[in-house]
Amino acid sequence: MANLDFLKEEIALLKKEERFIEPAILQSEQGPVCQINGKEVVNLTSNNYLCLASHPKIKEAAIEATKKYGIGTAAVRTIIGTTSLHEILEKRLAEFKGTQASIVIQSGFTSNTAVCQSLMTSPQDVLISDELNHASIIDGARLSKAKRKIYRHSDMAHLKEILENDEDVKNARRKMLVTDGVFSMDGDIANLPEIVELCKKHNVITMVDDAHASGVIGPQGRGTVAYYNLKGQVDIQIGTLSKAFATIGGYAAGSFELKQYLQSVARPFLFSSSHPPAVIASCIAGLDVIYNEPERLKRLWENTNFFKEELKKAGFDTGNSKTPITPVMVGDEKKAKELSKMLFEEGVFALAIVFPTVPRGKARIRTIVTSDHTQENLQKAVNAFVKCGKKLGII
Ligand SMILES: *Cc1c(COP(=O)(O)O)cnc(C)c1O
Repeated sequence: MANLDFLKEEIALLKKEERFIEPAILQSEQGPVCQINGKEVVNLTSNNYLCLASHPKIKEAAIEATKKYGIGTAAVRTIIGTTSLHEILEKRLAEFKGTQASIVIQSGFTSNTAVCQSLMTSPQDVLISDELNHASIIDGARLSKAKRKIYRHSDMAHLKEILENDEDVKNARRKMLVTDGVFSMDGDIANLPEIVELCKKHNVITMVDDAHASGVIGPQGRGTVAYYNLKGQVDIQIGTLSKAFATIGGYAAGSFELKQYLQSVARPFLFSSSHPPAVIASCIAGLDVIYNEPERLKRLWENTNFFKEELKKAGFDTGNSKTPITPVMVGDEKKAKELSKMLFEEGVFALAIVFPTVPRGKARIRTIVTSDHTQENLQKAVNAFVKCGKKLGII
């Protein structure tokens, strides 16, 4: 036991640096109002954008799939873990994304690591990445053999400079640019039209991670490529089944060859088992709901606009968000955590995001509204923000 004694010191350090985490406990179904740590609260933290987590038709689909196919496949996809349902979902996701094919991978996180690692295999390759990209892209870059080039957040002039002048880029065997479609901590949208144009000019593969965009932006929630009308111009679209789809999983959408290649070499696909039928059936049913109940997306955006405007009117800095992710800027780490605690007392659940998830001194409360928050829920949240924000001198 003594071998692990150093953990006590490490934990003390985490506590001192305000980085110690103890997850809240969800004691009800995921939804706009739920029971958390023994209290009923308005929930502004989940990625359950369209409230599919509790949709009766999707629950039914999960139950039916379990009855027909059992609880799991007890195998990796490449052995006997690919059911008819997996095949259907991959076709449906390709249609959703406007691509030839798609491949479902364990999670959004592993989709990013799988693609980066599988395509960037030599020190003569270069992976170009936005500085605010998700941790899974950073890890994907680390697992690849490529040299890494980081450009300042959405700074197209900096990207251009790297593409035109960097010696490694100029001499590269393969070049790939990776960006979040919607940035997960700020809610802003990548400048895909310019990125695509620059990458075309310099023969760079483009990869967009639409974790927070799928189901959320563009017509029918098809994501950033559809939002910018760039069908056929982005090589790889990553999506997650764990946010708007509210289950678990990720996928890469692109050409037939991309799918064929990844299913032969992508390590998470080869060495980690497949999703249970209930999960896959939930995603197929989720796509049906997205198409058949467009009012969900409409309500999501009405709620987003209402909530953002009310916070702005009250004097809060909500950053550069263009999506349902609205950061409420605080700055100081301790103050952000204090605000989160006070909001909970007022019946509103919204968490502080601090270093290292965001840079030091850029602590914030990150909020996400969903389609099923009522006007009353959101007004209650705004009132709590105003009351607590004033007490802490934020507004
Ligand atoms: C959440 C997120 C992921 C990870 O997706 P999971 O399916 O939860 O593993 C990847 N990329 C981005 C940009 C994300 O926001």
